[in-house]
Amino acid sequence: MSTGFVYAPALAHTRRNHPENPQRLALLLPTLEQFGVLSALTAVTPQPATLPQLRRVHTAAYIERVRETAHRGGGVLDHGDTYVTPESYQLARLAAGSAIAAVDALLTGSVQNGFVLVRPPGHHAEANRAGGFCLFNNVAVAARHAQAAHHLKRILVLDFDVHHGNGTQHIFYEDDTVMFASIHMFVPYYFYPGIGASHEIGEGKGLGYTVNVPLPPHVGDNGYNQVVNELVWPKAAVFQPELILVSAGFDAHWQDPLAAEGLSLTGYARLVRTLMQMAQTLCHGRILFVLEGGYQQSALTYGILNTMYALLGQDEIHDPIGPMPTPEYDVTDLLYQLRQRHLLY
Ligand SMILES: [Zn+2]
Repeated sequence: MSTGFVYAPALAHTRRNHPENPQRLALLLPTLEQFGVLSALTAVTPQPATLPQLRRVHTAAYIERVRETAHRGGGVLDHGDTYVTPESYQLARLAAGSAIAAVDALLTGSVQNGFVLVRPPGHHAEANRAGGFCLFNNVAVAARHAQAAHHLKRILVLDFDVHHGNGTQHIFYEDDTVMFASIHMFVPYYFYPGIGASHEIGEGKGLGYTVNVPLPPHVGDNGYNQVVNELVWPKAAVFQPELILVSAGFDAHWQDPLAAEGLSLTGYARLVRTLMQMAQTLCHGRILFVLEGGYQQSALTYGILNTMYALLGQDEIHDPIGPMPTPEYDVTDLLYQLRQRHLLY
């Protein structure tokens, strides 16, 4: 099995005391090397996304705004949460282009699956504005490229970052060619970005192609796997995707400082394996993970390591942190309602 690895850590996209900084990935390569994983991966070279590639998702005015902000020395967008440094425009283009390079490698058969390890993340970026530390929507740009350059008709974007992927949802909200499913913590008026309720299921042609799984805190390992097995997978089976792109955030880990969803590293590893089985069943195993959030360094590092093991077809799992010490919330009733809403009887 050949697993692609695209790495663009964007060292010059950084800000003091900001949770989304290059230190997040500082232990990644040494850890992958230490466990013998790095040499087993197939390196795919990152390339900056071109303007036409970005324009499939973002408005020209917004792209220019990011470029111009970087050009005049940097600044902040989105009320101050999302920063831009002088290098950020180039580095955000490189992140989006890395996801494109992985799609090309996968769809031309040089790798069978892969992980795009990039910053800044993408899923909060809207067509016309930045948000939640994100400049360009890497996963959305990759999905549009798979359609435009490889003629794919149906793509599933599954977002397990603990925050709702508002940018991705809006970009594909009226689209029946990209199904968007998001599993996220949902506490209205309190937890960012504040949308992603279960009644948001798409509009127009896209009606029924958005699946939101809004979770209360502390759902944990069993609940996440139930969500995939009992809702996301059956819904995806109806859709029949040709490619699965995963917005992979590791901030649903119970030790993450920004959230409280209760997954353990073992739970994440199980979740990833379930998604791979889903991809095997639905689309010849064609699955690409694209990094989003994750702000506890060892949860992020080992979460990525365990995903690599799964992608390489190895059984190993490392969980030096252990399980959430508090009880898990039971999602059975919530899932019953969601299955009704999505016509899965
Ligand atoms: Zn997040």
